[in-house]
Amino acid sequence: QNNQLHTSQPLASLYGGRHTVTFMPGDGVGPELMGHIKEVFRFAGAPVDFEEIDFSSNNSTDADMDNAMLAIKRNGIAIKGNRETNFDTPGFKSRNVQLRTELDLFANVLWCKSIDGVKTRHDNIDIIIIRENTEGEYKNLEHENVSGVVESLKIITADASRRIAKYAFDFATKHGRKKVTAIHKANIMKLGDGLFLKCCKEVSELYPDIQYDSMIVDNCSMQLVSKPQQFDVMVMPNLYGNIISNIGAGLVGGPGVVPGMNVGTDYAVFESGCRNTGKHIAGKNIANPTGMLLAGVDLLVYLGLEQHAGLIQDSVINTISQKEYQTPDLGGQATSTEVVQAIIDDIKFKTQERYKK
Ligand code: ATP
Repeated sequence: QNNQLHTSQPLASLYGGRHTVTFMPGDGVGPELMGHIKEVFRFAGAPVDFEEIDFSSNNSTDADMDNAMLAIKRNGIAIKGNRETNFDTPGFKSRNVQLRTELDLFANVLWCKSIDGVKTRHDNIDIIIIRENTEGEYKNLEHENVSGVVESLKIITADASRRIAKYAFDFATKHGRKKVTAIHKANIMKLGDGLFLKCCKEVSELYPDIQYDSMIVDNCSMQLVSKPQQFDVMVMPNLYGNIISNIGAGLVGGPGVVPGMNVGTDYAVFESGCRNTGKHIAGKNIANPTGMLLAGVDLLVYLGLEQHAGLIQDSVINTISQKEYQTPDLGGQATSTEVVQAIIDDIKFKTQERYKK
């Protein structure tokens, strides 16, 4: 599950054998889920220190944002809860999007894998969704020249398309995957998505050992919910990536179980896969901690701390596979803290067993 190694590995800070990671709790369920990461890392003995930065919507000035960016640039790596975006204010740019574009975190990776014991409609799913993370519909280029007529510009460039296609093929190679599928709507957006598709095709020719195909995004949505096992690695522009990621997460248990990572050449930021705020369940102790903890696991792998990552991952999967430790989103009755306590107990048990050997 989600043992993600990376194709390009920027440097992260390391002082006295310990890594410093920027820690941004965000809004909604973010602070409680991020608190669980701290606890679990502590019991697993992960050599990671957190530099905490308030990235909630209460902290909204440009200076606050600059401070957050500086902290990520300093440490090279961050883990975050999602920050709520107020969509009533036209022209207000999402700070989450701003963070990804300013740090040039061009690849968003979501690994959707079935978890034993988590009841879903389909079994044996193992899909990697790779989303272009910096352009497309997320360029924030919208204007209303004439009242009642809005232009929303979607930007597709050859450079960014080739870059994400290459990332997807490198990722597939590194993880021994067999197929990459490009997702598009080039039958309608002939120029924009046409360019994306052309770039994917060109890049695919450099990887003869990996099968390449493409699929229109509407058909892809239907195929995903009817026969998801046919997909391996998928690569797509930004907005399709957002939607397909949510379908992918829904297939394996929902927004609470899938981790996500944003990677660029210089920095990496980890978060829950669907980037949910979950404001309606905040403070109720029912949010599923799995996705965020697995994002923590991916962070540890990224730092080269595979042993700690493996320990936490095994305990998270082992715990969440048991019905008594499933939160309401999975049809169970456990509280978040009961799940986390069971994970910590499992970690303690495993580490004691190690000492006995
Ligand atoms: P709304 O309910 O209006 O969509 P929200 O901020 O509460 O707002 P989202 O962040 O959009 O919800 O999340 C979508 C759904 O996923 C919600 O039903 C939310 O409760 C659920 N959800 C998000 N994160 C988790 C989690 N960690 N565990 C369980 N459920 C979650």
